[in-house]
Amino acid sequence: MAVIIGDTCINCAACIDECPVEAIVDEDDNPTGEEYYYVYPDKCVECVDHFDSPACAEACPTEDCITWDMPFTADHKEFFKGNNYIDDQAYIVDDADAIMPMRDDISLEDRAARVSVVED
Ligand code: SF4
Ligand code: SF4
Repeated sequence: MAVIIGDTCINCAACIDECPVEAIVDEDDNPTGEEYYYVYPDKCVECVDHFDSPACAEACPTEDCITWDMPFTADHKEFFKGNNYIDDQAYIVDDADAIMPMRDDISLEDRAARVSVVED
């Protein structure tokens, strides 16, 4: 994915217009059925070539709500096919063939641990 919005999201809308690639949808359009915002992993570019850091997380008022996730690259497609979204659900993607950019300075360990994008 890139980044993932957790269940502490308060549906405040602060993030959605900050995304340069319209990867975020609100609770009404969350394809997983959860009632909070969702980032499409096959659309998120981690704000690479747009901003120095993920704009959604910079705008989010909820601590640790937006965290790193695995990158939507060829090497990690299997992750997104499993039930690795929240509550053992599957991710929903529009384009399974997409290959998305990732920030190389974010380790796979931090991504797997879903550490907060904005550090405390
Ligand atoms: S990291 Fe950037 S591209 Fe990804 S969802 Fe957030 S604002 Fe959009
Ligand atoms: S800014 Fe944070 S709390 Fe507000 S809708 Fe986006 S993810 Fe949810």
